[in-house]
Amino acid sequence: MVQNKTTLTFYGGVDEIGGNKILLQDGDTRVFFDFGMSFAMKKRFYSPPFLSPKSEKSLQELGILPQITGVYRFDQSPPEVDAVFLSHGHLDHSAYLSFIKREIPVYCGETTQIILQALSDVRRANLEFSVSDIEFKTFRTGKKIAVDSLEVEPFHVDHSVPGAYGFLIHTSNGTVVYTGDFRDHGAKPEMTRDFVENAKKAKPKAIITEATNMTGATVSSEAEVEDKLNSIVADADGVVLAEFAYSDVDRLNSFFHIAKKNQRCLAVSLKQAYLLEALRKDKGLTVPVLDDEGILIFRKSKKRFDKWENELIERYDQQNKIFDVFEVSKQQCKVVLAMSFYDFEELVPLQPEAGSCYILSASEPFNEEMELDYERVGNWLRHYGLPQYHVHVSGHIMPLRLKKTLREMNGERIFPVHTENADLFARFMRDLKGQVTLVEKCKEYTL
Ligand SMILES: [Zn+2]
Ligand SMILES: [Zn+2]
Repeated sequence: MVQNKTTLTFYGGVDEIGGNKILLQDGDTRVFFDFGMSFAMKKRFYSPPFLSPKSEKSLQELGILPQITGVYRFDQSPPEVDAVFLSHGHLDHSAYLSFIKREIPVYCGETTQIILQALSDVRRANLEFSVSDIEFKTFRTGKKIAVDSLEVEPFHVDHSVPGAYGFLIHTSNGTVVYTGDFRDHGAKPEMTRDFVENAKKAKPKAIITEATNMTGATVSSEAEVEDKLNSIVADADGVVLAEFAYSDVDRLNSFFHIAKKNQRCLAVSLKQAYLLEALRKDKGLTVPVLDDEGILIFRKSKKRFDKWENELIERYDQQNKIFDVFEVSKQQCKVVLAMSFYDFEELVPLQPEAGSCYILSASEPFNEEMELDYERVGNWLRHYGLPQYHVHVSGHIMPLRLKKTLREMNGERIFPVHTENADLFARFMRDLKGQVTLVEKCKEYTL
């Protein structure tokens, strides 16, 4: 019997943070791990909202969407891929599901499906992000999923979004481990530990690892973030403005606890409220309940609301949960207001009092939608006399911890992805037993 050949081809996540699209072939079985949007590539050509791609043709022309047959719904050929597995719901790993043929099943964690569905409900339909008609198949940790000659085992990992997984992929030529995005200093380091233990037991033939934080690494933890937030909020006399990622539930929990501890309410956006409501279906997650007296829902000043917004406002209006900017303005010392830079126009009616401040609690190289415009943020803050604090901890593992983890998992080969510093990574990891391969885009690697 001829043994199946196993190969890896990286269509994204090469020399960039995000955009992961990794094809694993085992004989005739072809499976993608992640199918994300490349923020870095897109930024080279586009500047939304005024300069945005009009069709998949533009994205392919510019190399932002790779040329692959049998994968895209706009290509008439029959499907040539058996499944897509998502490590987590960040858009740099999941957004380009938009283009995937709807007959190809998409496997992801239950939480990831909830997040992607909520995100698609609160956004206007968009070329680059739509999950309509996708055949989602959800898993939980440790479940074994057979796809022809492959067996895929997802294990939860800690990351800056709930429902993040790493994978053990059992192929005809041994086990391939894919870390997805992970860290061991978040709210649930024991999940990452679980993944690493299981990966180690599988004696991996190859490890595909994220290597985001090779420069500018810092040492902190979600617990330390909470302490720092507490010391800031405790001293603030006016309103505390808080900017953090929409799906970073750990951070939302931290702000919620700290607001409570300081006799304040956390006012979340309509979008965040919608997600929190959706996440309540997930019994494994701890998220604030919207009915909690420590939570308010902030209604931005605008003329027209979408249907989902009106429904949400109606549901919570009777409970006096919905606050507009004038109500927040009257009780500034009682509120931590989650606010994105794109809502800064609200500062005009809000008129932050002396002793108010702004906390930037995000710093991933990309934000979910657009890049933060630091210069303009600074101008607004200066205008209102708001000092800026930066309190954050990365969603990604730090270099020495990563090295320890890779040494423990002991893979024969190591493929770094999701990094701009693969060469530095290779030199830093040169004393590991596993051989580091500097990945080239679209090149096939045989295991
Ligand atoms: Zn990522
Ligand atoms: Zn991520």
